[in-house]
Amino acid sequence: MSSVAVSRLPVDEERDLPPTSIADAVASIARKDLAPLAADIDSGAIYPADLLRRLGNAGAWGSHVPNNGVADLGCAIQSISALGEVCGATAFMAWCQNTLVWYVANSDNPALVGRFADDVSTGRILGGTGLSNPMKSLFGIEKLKLKGRKVDGGYVVRGALPWVSNLGSDHFFGTIFEIEDRPGEIVMFLADCSDPAITLQPCKPFLAMDGTGTYSVQFRDVFVSNEPTDFRKMLSDLEAETMALARDPFNADDGYWRRVLALRLNLGEASVAAAHTAMLHCGARGYLKSHRVQRRLREAYFVAIVTPATKQLRKMLEDA
Ligand SMILES: Cc1cc2nc3c(=O)[nH]c(=O)nc-3n(C[C@H](O)[C@H](O)[C@H](O)COP(=O)(O)OP(=O)(O)OC[C@H]3O[C@@H](n4cnc5c(N)ncnc54)[C@H](O)[C@@H]3O)c2cc1C
Repeated sequence: MSSVAVSRLPVDEERDLPPTSIADAVASIARKDLAPLAADIDSGAIYPADLLRRLGNAGAWGSHVPNNGVADLGCAIQSISALGEVCGATAFMAWCQNTLVWYVANSDNPALVGRFADDVSTGRILGGTGLSNPMKSLFGIEKLKLKGRKVDGGYVVRGALPWVSNLGSDHFFGTIFEIEDRPGEIVMFLADCSDPAITLQPCKPFLAMDGTGTYSVQFRDVFVSNEPTDFRKMLSDLEAETMALARDPFNADDGYWRRVLALRLNLGEASVAAAHTAMLHCGARGYLKSHRVQRRLREAYFVAIVTPATKQLRKMLEDA
């Protein structure tokens, strides 16, 4: 891999100096923390998720986010180069992570940007890109491997991508499907590897790049929503409000009472919405009598109908 100079000083002198730029900080992490891991990454013994997150803390993934309209791609190139001086596989994972940040930063879906921009640019969420197949398809080399069927509120996607890197069970990656019955019409989306309808299949050993978290990815009726609802955020907000109200159960204030009613109403509605989405995610499998998602949907209905039920809560809130 050819390199771009990151620092003008000889290695021995650099060691004692604090980093002055993001690329310097990345170079320092590469020398101190990545170098001892490089052989294990090469052999596939480890996928360096912790190191990638530490690089995120140092700002390595933030330079693809436009600052006053302009992204600092030079910084990303220098950082990837610094990693590549020590470990080519990690330089490739850095590129993968940067593509994910770039897709989010350039999305015209404000809900997606709001949910993911900070998490991917700081490395709290790791991931990459599944655009090899779409790129080949755009140039007529192969057909698009993912197909999406339009359903209420989004699409149901099927197919498989043979290799996608920098993945793990809680990672995301950007890719493209073609809308069924509308050849040439495509949709770009972020795939959530924790989705039960997505399977990561380990690849056979490669000549190199084995520690890069590269998997064959199967999509079995994955629901892709037109507006991805952030249920994790919704849950943590509702939990925080629950714990705040639980600290003061005898509070007779009207405002406190209204907060209790609103929380109880929101919890019922959120339970049904989350279970409904899980049901659509699983497609026909979720419709099996033995499947847990249809049980969760029935349980969620109970939250919404048990007294005080949704209708009564709305009336109580109006009267309060
Ligand atoms: C370790 C590893 C990690 C990977 N990570 C990712 C990833 O993160 N994301 C991702 O999307 N993909 C990833 N890939 C896939 C990679 O980008 C290539 O698409 C793949 O290696 C090509 O393999 P193939 O056997 O399908 O190639 P082929 O389809 O046989 O193509 C071989 C080469 O010839 C070119 N080619 C094929 N047909 C033609 C034609 N008619 N005219 C001109 N050129 C042609 C192709 O572009 C390619 O360069 C990864 C692959 C590996 C091995």
